[in-house]
Amino acid sequence: MKKRVLITGGAGFLGSHLCDRFLNEGFEVIAMDNLITGDLKNIQHLFEREDFHFYHHDVTKFVHVAGNIDYILHFASPASPIDYLKIPIQTLKVGSLGTHNLLGLAKEKKARILIASTSEVYGDPLVHPQSEDYYGNVNTIGPRGVYDEAKRFQESMTMAYHRFHGLETRIARIFNTYGPRMRLNDGRVIPAFIGQALRGEDLTVFGDGSQTRSFCYVDDQVEGLFRLLMSDYSNPVNIGNPDEISILDFAKEIIKLTGTDQKIIFKPLPKDDPLQRQPNIDLAKKVMGWEPKVSREKGMEETYKYFQSLSKEELEKSEHKDFSKHIR
Ligand code: UDP
Repeated sequence: MKKRVLITGGAGFLGSHLCDRFLNEGFEVIAMDNLITGDLKNIQHLFEREDFHFYHHDVTKFVHVAGNIDYILHFASPASPIDYLKIPIQTLKVGSLGTHNLLGLAKEKKARILIASTSEVYGDPLVHPQSEDYYGNVNTIGPRGVYDEAKRFQESMTMAYHRFHGLETRIARIFNTYGPRMRLNDGRVIPAFIGQALRGEDLTVFGDGSQTRSFCYVDDQVEGLFRLLMSDYSNPVNIGNPDEISILDFAKEIIKLTGTDQKIIFKPLPKDDPLQRQPNIDLAKKVMGWEPKVSREKGMEETYKYFQSLSKEELEKSEHKDFSKHIR
C-alpha cells in the first residue's frame, strides 16, 4: 500500500513542487486548493496519473478526506505582500481556521503534519541572521500583519496540538524561495524584475535597495521540507539559503542575466518591509543534515528560462503593478 499524503495549496508554487516530489518518492498524493492564488496549470501534468487526485476545496471550511492519510503538508496561503493587500481576511483565515481544520484532520487520521511557516514570523528583525530562538519584531496591525500574525498563531496552534494531543507535528520557517511556477504577477521581487526585463520596462527598486534578502532555489527548499517531515524534530526549523544580497545588487544581477539594458528606478519602500533577512540554518544542518546546494546563478538561470517560456499574452497580462504606494 502506498503512503498517502495531503498537500494543501497543492496548485501553488511550493505546493505543486511538493506534489511532484512526493509522487516521485512513490506516495499517493491528494492536492487541495481553492485556486484563489493557485493555478491548475502548475499541476496539469499530473492529472493523468492514478496516484494523483485534486480536490477543489477551501480549507477554512471543514476538510473531509475519505480513507487513511499518513502525512499532511499545509501549504495553502497567499504568500506575497500584494496578495495580503487584496485578500487580507482570507490570508488570516487560512493561517488560523484552515490550520485548525488540518490539525483536527491530522488528529482524526493519526497523520503527521508539517506546517508551512515563514521568516515573516521574525517581522523586521532586530537580530541578524535570524535563528529559531529569536522571537521576532512584528507590527500586528501593519499591512503584513495579516500574514505574519496568522503564521505566528499557526505555530502556536500547532505546538498546542503537539503538546496537548501528542500529534506528530513539524514546523518549517520558510525563507524567500524562488523558481519555476512562481506567479509572474504576484508582486514578489523575482517575477517582478524578470517580468519588467522581459517587457522592456525599467526595474523598480523599492527604497534605496539596501534591504537584503536571501533567496533559496525551490529544489533545495523541497529537499529541506521533505527531510524535515521525515525527521523527528517538532520545534520550528529555518529552511532557506543564507546567501544574502541587497535588492539593488540583485537588480543589477537580473539586468546581467537577462542581457537587457534596463535602467533601475527607485520607488518608496513599502511599510514594514524588512530591512534585512538571512536565515541561520545551523539547526537544519544538525537536525536534517541539510543545506542548500543550488547557487543563485544556476537557480536564476532555470527561473529565467521558465519565465521566457511563458506566452507573450501571459507576459502582457502580468504588467507590473507598483503596490508600494498602497501599503504605506
Ligand atoms: N522589491 C523591489 N521591487 C519590486 C518588488 C519588490 O524592490 O518590484 C523589494 C521589496 O521591497 C523587498 C524585496 O524586494 O524589500 C523582496 O520583496 P518580496 O515581495 O519578493 O518578498 P518579501 O518582502 O516578502 O521578502
